[in-house]
Amino acid sequence: MADEPRVERTEEEWREHLTPAQYDVLRRAGTEPAFAGEYVYNKESGEYRCAACATMLFSADTKFDSGTGWPSFTEPAVAQAVELRPDRSYGMDRTEVLCRVCGSHLGHVFDDGPGPTGQRYCINSLALSFDAAGEPAPAGSSSSTPGPDEADAGEHPQ
Ligand SMILES: [Zn+2]
Repeated sequence: MADEPRVERTEEEWREHLTPAQYDVLRRAGTEPAFAGEYVYNKESGEYRCAACATMLFSADTKFDSGTGWPSFTEPAVAQAVELRPDRSYGMDRTEVLCRVCGSHLGHVFDDGPGPTGQRYCINSLALSFDAAGEPAPAGSSSSTPGPDEADAGEHPQ
């Protein structure tokens, strides 16, 4: 498993990379207030990626309205993308869900889901970055024009 992709940053780098609210959830295992997250009611089709490292985590196809106030999914898009870990904090017996690539906290998984797996991945919106699928191309534009290239992100001098 030596070639397993991993993203490692120092806590200082994470602070620069993330908003304070994202940092609290992703790196301090915080929880956003119920019904406050950006994606609670999002029903668009697309992909939910890790807000910290952009790994594809959940597909909108598996999202359902759990009524809990957090985005809920029946299963990860890629099983290996998430890591499950027992979490006995706050006197509760829960299973924490982390991004396997960068180790960031995403939320928890419970056994009361509606799908064939019976699982409910309860994930903070702040831990996710949504990529809408099938956005209509602007009318009359060339079909061969990609979006702006964001690869040039190295603006931080040492
Ligand atoms: Zn990640």
